[in-house]
Amino acid sequence: MHLNSEYVQYQLAFNVSDIREFESEIIRIRRRIHANPELSYREFETSKLVAQKLRTLGLGVRTRVGGTGVVGLLKGAHHGNVVALRADMDALPVTENVNVPFKSKRPGIMHACGHDTHVSMLLGAAMLLAKHRDDLHGQVRFLFQPAEEAGGRGGAKPMIEDGAMNNPKVDYVFGLHIYGTVPSNVFLLRPGPVMAAPDTFRIRIIGKGGHGSAPHEAVDPIFVSAQVVMALQGITSRMIDQLEPFVISVCSIHSGTKDNIIPDDAILEGTVRTFNEKTRAQAKKYVTKVFESLAKSFKAKAEVEFKLDEYPVTVNDPTVTKKAISVLRKIRGTRTIEGKPIMGAEDFSRFLQKAPGAFYFLGSRNPKKGCVSMNHSSEFKVDEEVLKYGSLSLANLAHEFGKPN
Ligand SMILES: [Zn+2]
Ligand SMILES: [Zn+2]
Repeated sequence: MHLNSEYVQYQLAFNVSDIREFESEIIRIRRRIHANPELSYREFETSKLVAQKLRTLGLGVRTRVGGTGVVGLLKGAHHGNVVALRADMDALPVTENVNVPFKSKRPGIMHACGHDTHVSMLLGAAMLLAKHRDDLHGQVRFLFQPAEEAGGRGGAKPMIEDGAMNNPKVDYVFGLHIYGTVPSNVFLLRPGPVMAAPDTFRIRIIGKGGHGSAPHEAVDPIFVSAQVVMALQGITSRMIDQLEPFVISVCSIHSGTKDNIIPDDAILEGTVRTFNEKTRAQAKKYVTKVFESLAKSFKAKAEVEFKLDEYPVTVNDPTVTKKAISVLRKIRGTRTIEGKPIMGAEDFSRFLQKAPGAFYFLGSRNPKKGCVSMNHSSEFKVDEEVLKYGSLSLANLAHEFGKPN
């Protein structure tokens, strides 16, 4: 009888008892990186630590991949697929407001998004997989990525351009993110779009300056800006499919110098968040049209500029995700739920454009330990109990997906 893959019961390769021996080292590495955070593309010490550890484990190591990135390669004893696991390494320009013995030693820099835990959890998975390489199928590619927080300059793209997903080509790719406001030991994993594409725009409305008492002699860019800001919300309610998540916000307007001078121009900046590439393309088209045509109807001109092409929508492959959920559900001591998509963005999306895979989250909220703040907060604190489960999940996914199809 052929079983539908949805109902196949997986025998987990690794359980909590297998990761125990590495737990203290995972935490030690995390604390060391936490105390010495480095900003995007400056992850020099972090990548050195990563490369050293991977070499100690006997893995093939490539450094300076796409900047400060490191790629580790572990070959299993048996034939199978190439599975890539990714951790980002950069910290944020935030001053840490948490009192822990391993508090950031660098004023103004903090691992406030938890990328320190990503590095340590992935190294934990490498320790576990390296120990069991004799029963491993295929190859595991460890991607330690720089600069996830760098917006359109994110590190995934240069790593891919530097061959991180080729030779041999990656068959499956997984990424894990720690999540400050989801309870500890809960995995969030859902098929389809999980994180938005964040496009930012800058618009200059060019009018004609004049006296505030004689607007008919001038072309008032502030009046035009006000019309445009209102009209933009019409895109949401009248032009985009109501079943598609869509946000547009004008977040800054700059114009004018004095109460009786009509200025020459106005600058508006804002962001658009979308969950599929079709809506994204429509949004760009409509925003440009609304600005240009409204400006024109009031005798002004609009220069519309979408800033750097930032991150694409993060889309989890449905088939891979379904199987990954059934793997994670087997990890005793944890729970796996679907959760909701997030309006934030991730350049892990770029890896998912190269190979099917999934991006998932691990909660680390534990009020008893004071771990309650959201990522990017100066009070962000991780429940370190969860790290072993993160390592365990990555190792089990690599093991399961490495098996020949
Ligand atoms: Zn972040
Ligand atoms: Zn992050």
